Amino acid sequence: MSYTPTEKEQAFLERVESPTYQREIINGLAPFLNGKAPEDLEGFYAEQELVQLGGLKGSERDVEKRMPVKVTRHYAELARQSQPMQRLVKASPDETQDLAGSEDPGNQMDYSPVEGLLHKYEMGLMYVVSTCSAHCRFCYREELIARKEIKRQDGTVAKKGLAKIPEITAYIKEFNEKVAANGGRHPDSGREKLREILLSGGDPMVLNNNKIAAWLAALAEVGIESIRIGTKEMAFYPKRFDETFFAMLDDFHATYPDVGVHFMVHFEHPDEFLQKDAEGQYVRDKHGIPQWVEDTANAMNGLLARGWITVENQTPIIKDINDDPDALRLMQREMKRVGAENHYFFCGRDIVAYRAFNIPIEKAWEIHNESQKGLSGVEAHARLSITHYKGKTEVVAVTDEPIPGLPGSENGVVIFKILRNAGSAPDRFKVCIVGRNPEAVWFDDYEDRVLFDEAGLFDYARVKDAKTLSAN
Ligand code: SF4
Repeated sequence: MSYTPTEKEQAFLERVESPTYQREIINGLAPFLNGKAPEDLEGFYAEQELVQLGGLKGSERDVEKRMPVKVTRHYAELARQSQPMQRLVKASPDETQDLAGSEDPGNQMDYSPVEGLLHKYEMGLMYVVSTCSAHCRFCYREELIARKEIKRQDGTVAKKGLAKIPEITAYIKEFNEKVAANGGRHPDSGREKLREILLSGGDPMVLNNNKIAAWLAALAEVGIESIRIGTKEMAFYPKRFDETFFAMLDDFHATYPDVGVHFMVHFEHPDEFLQKDAEGQYVRDKHGIPQWVEDTANAMNGLLARGWITVENQTPIIKDINDDPDALRLMQREMKRVGAENHYFFCGRDIVAYRAFNIPIEKAWEIHNESQKGLSGVEAHARLSITHYKGKTEVVAVTDEPIPGLPGSENGVVIFKILRNAGSAPDRFKVCIVGRNPEAVWFDDYEDRVLFDEAGLFDYARVKDAKTLSAN
């Protein structure tokens, strides 16, 4: 399949300046194991850690088979003063102790009508690249980044493919034409126009400007109204947000002014963007306002200075990284202070080895709740979400007291509420109430204590299928 840009699109693409970047990436464990890491980063892994990790090489518990190891110099340098940042990028033998989990979290391949596109909700998510400048050990896309083979619903087994402009634009065009011809709803699924796309991966910001520009223009030309870019590059390599990138965005906006552009950034912890002094304390001005790392501030301010771009932060709550209400409170304050929104906090997903990273759901709720004490209303917009196979589900409340007259609620209850589910969210705001289980890290752990389930969280065939898959 081929794709021919329009004249307007071609003219825009020819104006894009597309430099390459020196991220100074340290790829894999080998440089550390073989003493080939840059001299000043030699102590990034302790001797003992390297012995343990080296001993697992080639075995079932090889950490790099589960998730490739990668870090940028920028991130490694800041991580010297931050245990949470080290934990985020440093491989640990613990992560392959228990390899239970789903090979395709959320059964995403059920919703992939064309390679590289998930069309589950009213918006579409595209895998445009299968790597990032550095790799988070807890990544929810470890199957994509490690290029693992995934079993699909039709029984075939293949790696997740990447989106390509000709196929994706053809799908969107055909889908939206059918919707328009049918009075605004798709004749088969009843869904509305596909109007919003999230560029994801991996991290789209590892692509050069010309590739990102090609996606933006092609999506604009096919009638997409709103484009999101999901990225952790502002934490891993903030210099990527340079003048050539901003010039490309400005030109895109001038060429396609009706198309919304939104950045979904991913900061886990304030250590990733705040300056620290030699004692490890955050540097503050005379009024007590924390000072950002200069390159990160430039990247964030460069986006926010463009009033037509929005920036939202979202992050999972991960064991020993950001399961800390004080850190999350500071992060939410700082995001809102500089002009970025706080979007979602996530409970960990059921990725392979999830027990090494996830904290119990009820603990995550408590941390989230504590972190928002002392925040103003506009600072405390973020919800705590857990991604069920049916869709995004909010952990609304955890009670300490029983509900009078409700057997099974003696130790209190957890209330879940569906925020979005496949299609046009027919089950939005339906709730599910379960008896408490402080150890629960995934829905399975509540299966024997469901009290009320109008949301159908425990009556969904693929939950059971997925468990069978991971058990085999
Ligand atoms: S930045 Fe996102 S996609 Fe990339 S490794 Fe981290 S969690 Fe995974």
